[in-house]
Amino acid sequence: MAGVMPRLQPLLTTMRGRMVHDANKPGQFNAYGQRADEVIWSVSRSALTAALTEAAHALPNIRIHFGQQCLDYRGAGRLRFRALDTGVEHEHNADRIIAADGAGSTLRAALAISCGFTVDEVRLPHDYKELHIPAHNGVTQLATDALHIWPRGGHMLIALPNADNSFTATLFLPAKAAAGQPGLDVLHDAAQVADFFNAQYREFPALVPDLGKQFLAHPQGMLGTVYCPQWHDGERLLLLGDAAHAIVPFHGQGMNCAFEDCRLLDEMLAVDSGQAFRRFAESRRADCAAIARMALENYDEMRDAVRSPQYLQQRQLALALEREFPERFIPRYAMVMFRDDIPYSVAERRGQIQQQILDELTADATTAVDAARVRERVESRLVPLPAAVR
Ligand SMILES: Cc1cc2nc3c(=O)[nH]c(=O)nc-3n(C[C@H](O)[C@H](O)[C@H](O)COP(=O)(O)OP(=O)(O)OC[C@H]3O[C@@H](n4cnc5c(N)ncnc54)[C@H](O)[C@@H]3O)c2cc1C
Repeated sequence: MAGVMPRLQPLLTTMRGRMVHDANKPGQFNAYGQRADEVIWSVSRSALTAALTEAAHALPNIRIHFGQQCLDYRGAGRLRFRALDTGVEHEHNADRIIAADGAGSTLRAALAISCGFTVDEVRLPHDYKELHIPAHNGVTQLATDALHIWPRGGHMLIALPNADNSFTATLFLPAKAAAGQPGLDVLHDAAQVADFFNAQYREFPALVPDLGKQFLAHPQGMLGTVYCPQWHDGERLLLLGDAAHAIVPFHGQGMNCAFEDCRLLDEMLAVDSGQAFRRFAESRRADCAAIARMALENYDEMRDAVRSPQYLQQRQLALALEREFPERFIPRYAMVMFRDDIPYSVAERRGQIQQQILDELTADATTAVDAARVRERVESRLVPLPAAVR
């Protein structure tokens, strides 16, 4: 949408990689990619929402009605709402409805009832808590060009930079403690919270002076994946974004995927508006299923694998192969995050082949890698991709 980027630019913080804080070791920086533009932007949710709302508001053909809770979809384009200020309910008919009401979508539930299908909402055993790391006298307490990860195997803490030198940290921890593993259900008071952080994330309490207070005051969020077998009711209603396919946040792609939904739907509406909802729902499914799987896999990588020497060895090798075969071997993370011309399902498929190659090449650390055999493996299994448009 024209006009959004200039509003957002001052609010963006650029992250070039991950800073991994393994227990009792100095932080280790891993770049996201090897090109200058392979970076991730961190932006506040509220600032992004405000910029998008302002840009939409400025368009002559859009009217925004705040404070209207959608209660129900009654088929044939009929929607029921409640005004939150007066409590008055009202019904509307619409020719076409795009339902983007998030992971707990009311319209998805209503569509499931009216069309007779079942939605699978698979909850992760881990919940999350957000915590604010303030700047100290205006000065940042952590490097601002990185996403910080404290991986601890069964759980992890991450922190993303904000434009004012503060950080938003998120603790991902099992909702229920079990067999020697900590859980959110046993952190009831400030002393328990302090003990937990001192034992698991020793340097963290010094970054957040009111840690116990924040921890007890902030809500506990749930995470999960939504598997919805039907995203549309003919050309009347279409589920979009998290309402159709909510995923866990570990690839940082939920919102990006929702934006990509918008771009693709827009293209389909321009080509054949009368078939757009059906075509979108059919053609998008494989890609959303792929990013849902990759997001789950990335949780294992972030909270555990990033610490292992084998992971670091394969990461270095993957970057070397990318330099040698830039059109064929692109690390999966880079395909997902930096190549919007590569669909998620293609990134997943090629990622599996690449992982196989990496496993083969690192299987025997005592044997020197033969360059001709590496070339043969890569060239026979990975067809070239078109060069990125940068
Ligand atoms: C901890 C966490 C970290 C994340 N990090 C990232 C990240 O780094 N990168 C990324 O790309 N994604 C991330 N995500 C995912 C991202 O937040 C979602 O994928 C994205 O917000 C989905 O957008 P959406 O518009 O589909 O739904 P939402 O953003 O949930 O918006 C839904 C809207 O509908 C409104 N609504 C809901 N019900 C009703 C109703 N009945 N009537 C009227 N209005 C209603 C809500 O108020 C809300 O405004 C993260 C998610 C979590 C939980």
